[in-house]
Amino acid sequence: MEPDRTLPTIALVVPCYNEQAALPETLPVLLGVLSTLSGSGRASEDSFILCCDDGSTDRTWDIIAEWHAREPRVKGISLAHNRGQQNALFAGLMTVLNSTTADAAVTVDADLQDAPEAIIEMVDHFRNGDDIVYGVRSSRTTDSWFKRNSARWFYGLQDRFGLETIPEHSEFRLMDRRALELLSEYGESNLYLRGIMPHIGLQSSVVTYARAARMAGESKYPLSKLISTSIDGITSFTAKPMRLIFMIGLVLLLTDIVVAVWVLMSHIRGIAISGWSSLMLSVWFLGSLVLISLGIIGEYIGKIFVEVKHRPRYAIHHTLL
Ligand code: UDP
Ligand code: MG
Repeated sequence: MEPDRTLPTIALVVPCYNEQAALPETLPVLLGVLSTLSGSGRASEDSFILCCDDGSTDRTWDIIAEWHAREPRVKGISLAHNRGQQNALFAGLMTVLNSTTADAAVTVDADLQDAPEAIIEMVDHFRNGDDIVYGVRSSRTTDSWFKRNSARWFYGLQDRFGLETIPEHSEFRLMDRRALELLSEYGESNLYLRGIMPHIGLQSSVVTYARAARMAGESKYPLSKLISTSIDGITSFTAKPMRLIFMIGLVLLLTDIVVAVWVLMSHIRGIAISGWSSLMLSVWFLGSLVLISLGIIGEYIGKIFVEVKHRPRYAIHHTLL
């Protein structure tokens, strides 16, 4: 039977780093999702899985190749070196955009922590006109206390620095071709998709799901990687921490006045040992001057940082000409 051309083709993009233990169990589940999608008339039979091997050092790529040989719906690309989940995802998404005719891509982890059933709901939202559908965790009971709380703290911090992110959303999301085209215009090499997608805008919605425990293998995110991703997330979106330095400098300068009064009082009352007053005054004054100067330099670096990214200034949503 010829595939129905009116149905959308969906690509499931799966980043894989040393996932030899998980893949043999994940692929049948995701193929099952594809069969449900096509069997229920939601998506075309051309829909496929794109595994993005992120420079694995185990048998991950062999497993992908073996699957591809017997099941054409399993496709793969492999990166020459481990570049991290964000880059593996971006490589997969750009492959979907430039080398296939898929109408939408869903990014999903290789360990089935993202509920596969939610993909069906995402596709329904897409068919109702949404360009981006975010998977949002309704519970994190399977994550450790530390991971849950550090994540909450991190979302709060991002929020305070003015980053528009979706709380409890990680990399489980659907993006249609239009969203992928806009994403491809972001030239920055320091990628933080969770920040970029809301920055793109478009019509979006949310699908909630319960996050499961990793079904096989170990987490590829040790604490060090988690912290560096968090720092990347903030520093690749905002120069506000630098403005903070300027603000602290200003507050210190104001405090100087209070300190100066106290020092002069002590001096006049004769309770200060010689040399203390001048030392105190200069330490405080110079300290705030240094911070303010750093803050001013920071403002300029912040401007350079924004310019260098060369992000699209806007994306047109609708036109009536
Ligand atoms: N991953 C990747 N490159 C990396 C680290 C992880 O492609 O350098 C993939 C990994 O194979 C998995 C997903 O990113 O599909 C999420 O990783 P993991 O499940 O280990 O993270 P956690 O769920 O523990 O935060
Ligand atoms: Mg995981």
